[in-house]
Amino acid sequence: MDNTTDLTPFPQPKPWISAIHAYVPGKSKGADGRPLTKLSANENPLGTSAAALAARADAAAPALYPDPDSNALRAALGDLHGVPAARIVMGTGSDEILHIAAQAYAGPGDEIIYVRYGFSVYDIAARRCGATPIVAPDADYGTDVDALLALVTDRTRVVFVANPNNPTGSFLPAGDLARLHAALPSDVLLVVDQAYGEYVAPADEDGALALAERAGNVLVTRTFSKIYGLAGERIGWGTGADHIIDALNRIRGPFNLSNTAQAMALAAVADQAFVEASRTHNLEQRTRFVAALEAMGNHGIRPLPSQANFVLILFEGALSAQTVYEGLMEHGYITRWLPNQGLPHGLRITIGTAAQMDEIAAAIRQMAERA
Ligand SMILES: *Cc1c(COP(=O)(O)O)cnc(C)c1O
Repeated sequence: MDNTTDLTPFPQPKPWISAIHAYVPGKSKGADGRPLTKLSANENPLGTSAAALAARADAAAPALYPDPDSNALRAALGDLHGVPAARIVMGTGSDEILHIAAQAYAGPGDEIIYVRYGFSVYDIAARRCGATPIVAPDADYGTDVDALLALVTDRTRVVFVANPNNPTGSFLPAGDLARLHAALPSDVLLVVDQAYGEYVAPADEDGALALAERAGNVLVTRTFSKIYGLAGERIGWGTGADHIIDALNRIRGPFNLSNTAQAMALAAVADQAFVEASRTHNLEQRTRFVAALEAMGNHGIRPLPSQANFVLILFEGALSAQTVYEGLMEHGYITRWLPNQGLPHGLRITIGTAAQMDEIAAAIRQMAERA
């Protein structure tokens, strides 16, 4: 019912809530409803660790509430990353952590900064708590530290940086991240979203976990949705100074990780061989896929350098991203075309199996030669 013309007053959402464009998840079906191979949501093509799948059966009974503090899981994560368990907060996906970080530190009248072509959840998180989203210009689709710093005012409360970034795959090296942090006022929270952190070569590590350990204004978020292959179980975590973790613990969901999620994540953390295999697979297939795309440069096809498990391809010639998006659907693949994120010329493709990437590269080449 239209509540603007009716005389009956209905509850009115706050104006900042009405201004939110709901998150658009990666699709898994074509327009005609037929199932397609999904390379639109950066899920793990190797699936889930066998040990994690087996641990499902060991989860506590569904009639019982889960451990509200995910103690065993936090201890295991702390051991793995060399972080005190007391400085880890779990979330229903890192999504929950991103939202409560914004909510804990910002509200109406405050500003939250993130880069253009950044993760779309930051805009929702900023608006949801009534803060004003401030979008920093990019540097050829990557994070521009100076552009970001130029927007800091005394109203700035939170800065979100995804590293590697989604949907561009771009990566801010440790030196740049340290420079960003050093120039931010100490009362501005820097959130470094490392959803794809495990895909980064250990030698290239951005240093965010160490920053979170020693600085009083850095929160690092991580997820089990990507390299761990547990997107369906909704498990994320964050780490930072005690006072940050304390604030987030006050407002997170009290039983935010289910029994199954805790059991599976615990087994997944113990199976680092699966993580390593996933990283190696991704690096090999991404390198091959990017090389195949770079060979199509004469057709205006430009893969952006990626440190993540996907590649953003820009179509700057006769062949359009929309044509490729639709053409790949004919081949049975759903990818992510991004006109709603200011990238009508961009197509983000998750790294799948070797055979899938070969088929996709061949299909794009064929389309390019015909365009
Ligand atoms: C996928 C992704 C996440 C993970 O979200 P979950 O809620 O943990 O599934 C977080 N940040 C970015 C940038 C992502 O791409």
